[in-house]
Amino acid sequence: MGRDPHYDVLFEPVAIGPVTARNRFYQVPHCNGMGVQYPSAMAAMRGIKAEGGWAVICTEECDFHVTGDVTPAIEARLWSEQDIPIMARMTEAVHRHGALAGCELVYGGPAGHNRQSREIPMAPSAMPVFGSEPGNARAMDKTDIKNFRRWHRQAALRARDAGFDIVYVYAGHNLCLMQHFISRRFNFRTDEYGGGIENRTRLMREVIEDTKEAVGDTMAVAVRFAVDELAGDQGITADGDGAAVVEILAELPDLWDVNVSEWPNDSQTARFAEEGFQEAFIGFVKSKTSKPVVGVGRYTSADRMVSLVNKGVLDMIGAARPSIADPFLPKKIEEGRIEDIRECIGCNICVSGDFMFMPMRCTQNPTKGEEWRRGWHPERIAPKESDSSVLIVGAGPAGLECARALGERGYPVSLAEAGTELGGHINTVSLLPGLASWARVRDYRVGQIQNMPGVEVFLDSRLDAEHVREFGFDHVVLATGSSWVGDGIGETHRRAIPGADQDHVLTPDDVIGGAAVSGPVIIFDDDYYFMASVLAEKLRGEGQDVIYVTPAADVATWTHNTMEQGRVQTRLLERGVAVRTAKSLASIGKGDAELACVHTDRRETVAAGSVVLVTMRVPDDSLYHELTGDQAALDAAGIRSVTRIGDCLAPGLIAAAVYGGHKYARELDAPAPIDNVPFRREILELSNDWPVL
Ligand code: ADP
Ligand code: SF4
Repeated sequence: MGRDPHYDVLFEPVAIGPVTARNRFYQVPHCNGMGVQYPSAMAAMRGIKAEGGWAVICTEECDFHVTGDVTPAIEARLWSEQDIPIMARMTEAVHRHGALAGCELVYGGPAGHNRQSREIPMAPSAMPVFGSEPGNARAMDKTDIKNFRRWHRQAALRARDAGFDIVYVYAGHNLCLMQHFISRRFNFRTDEYGGGIENRTRLMREVIEDTKEAVGDTMAVAVRFAVDELAGDQGITADGDGAAVVEILAELPDLWDVNVSEWPNDSQTARFAEEGFQEAFIGFVKSKTSKPVVGVGRYTSADRMVSLVNKGVLDMIGAARPSIADPFLPKKIEEGRIEDIRECIGCNICVSGDFMFMPMRCTQNPTKGEEWRRGWHPERIAPKESDSSVLIVGAGPAGLECARALGERGYPVSLAEAGTELGGHINTVSLLPGLASWARVRDYRVGQIQNMPGVEVFLDSRLDAEHVREFGFDHVVLATGSSWVGDGIGETHRRAIPGADQDHVLTPDDVIGGAAVSGPVIIFDDDYYFMASVLAEKLRGEGQDVIYVTPAADVATWTHNTMEQGRVQTRLLERGVAVRTAKSLASIGKGDAELACVHTDRRETVAAGSVVLVTMRVPDDSLYHELTGDQAALDAAGIRSVTRIGDCLAPGLIAAAVYGGHKYARELDAPAPIDNVPFRREILELSNDWPVL
């Protein structure tokens, strides 16, 4: 099927200075937790996006001098010639599929702590380094500025030598020096680099000019600029300094890549921002420049993309997360396969990888980060190796993905679900405040399975061991999910909380299932991710007095890793939820509960009509134990394997459940790994310069 001509505009080429992008799909720079640490993995991940039809594929941040070192973040690097082959691997992968490669040079300034190099960070004015870390960045003098310009210029040439087509001058995310020069929050200089906006833009202008002069017409020079810092008059605003900078530099770069700062503002989750939320900020840019403009906003709707171009908001559709969730998004639009797009759900699990210094993973795309090391392609999977049939019990994210991927391989699959709908816990979680887009995990897979004749679905089919044995499948996969515990056991309380066995003590499953609550409601969060705060929002929205209690120092503390924590805490406070941090739940009484300070064990009694315990989930694995407890019966039924996947094996992130389902499907009938490591590793070369002392 060909594409709808309505989308033709998205496939027009765009000239970016001396180079030409084949269409309007632009993968903006994004971190991935692989970078120079796992270079082939990073290159393969980028190359697959080029294969998927993106016209431009950029790096993550690429630090280029020891004084602007962004360690321990795992990023790209061009400190010296030594780094060129690593980056060249990426450009080669991108070029192989006809896309342009862009390099986002970054200089951390006060945001880069120089933890590897131990150099003193530099900033426009002396100030504490960011991140509540002891120590200051020093103010740059004129020699430092000259040096900085020289280093940037040298780095641009190294990027060219690594094969890049586009090099960035970067002033965004509050992570780089040139933004700090521009922002009145950070620049208190009294020389020609401080004061009015012309002066504060001077360094940026000089660096663009230096870069253009250095690379000539061998590469395009892009600017990435945060037009608004969402810091009010204190910082850059779209109708103030942001607009002024775009006006001053208007025709200087070959492309404007614009967004809001800082990263948690730019990459907001679906819980806090709609698709396209940045339009209000960046909408003005095209009126001030004739150069192509790229913007982001978690765009997954092809119609929305067309309208952005037609309305003259953007020339190129920028994407990080949508390209992570579906590296083949452009190809699918091009081929008229809109329904095959695996839409980003806006959860920022991808971002969490970067915060935790690990290769990126994605809720929707289980192959993310596994392209090179496991050889997993997002759109291709090996055909079946046998005629084995598979029964999957449970149609949550794990069961659905397992069925989808096995179906793609050509195995005959039966998917039995106790409920009357496919989706498992996604069906209820996506009804909670702000999480509607999480239903995409279900919808994509249900859509795919519907078109697979080899996958048979049985709803309203709660299976017991006898049923399973009767059917006589070769392999049985249990994806039966998990349940929240009702006794309060979790990370903090290793024994049941006294009083947890009363009727007014509820689990998240109870609340989601519509159990009656009476206020004030204590929600005890020993889980630290989204559930407790979302339930607090829900119950508060229903008019309940809610007291959120957690042993952690702040609300939903793990959501620092998804860059949501600040917004979660603000939302609860603004909605009138009482927040009690650093407290455990010592006991639950008849109309009250006893909280204990986690530092002093000092106790206090708080009134509570209901208590909701959000502590941990346990696998619903009784069927597994029943089946595997009777090997003779399995043998008699001809069942060769029984395997748990997803939450039934160990409750965790939705991303882990999807991954577990996918992994099972990839590994069915595959040879076992030769040694103990089930994936390829890249061992960095040892230096010959040894011994040294
Ligand atoms: P995961 O996140 O691991 O995919 P979920 O909790 O989302 O797990 O989904 C588990 C699904 O398994 C639920 O839809 C549940 O109804 C279903 N299920 C549980 N036990 C059985 C069973 N014995 N037979 C059929 N379906 C079951
Ligand atoms: Fe989107 Fe979540 Fe995947 Fe990130 S992890 S790309 S936010 S679906």
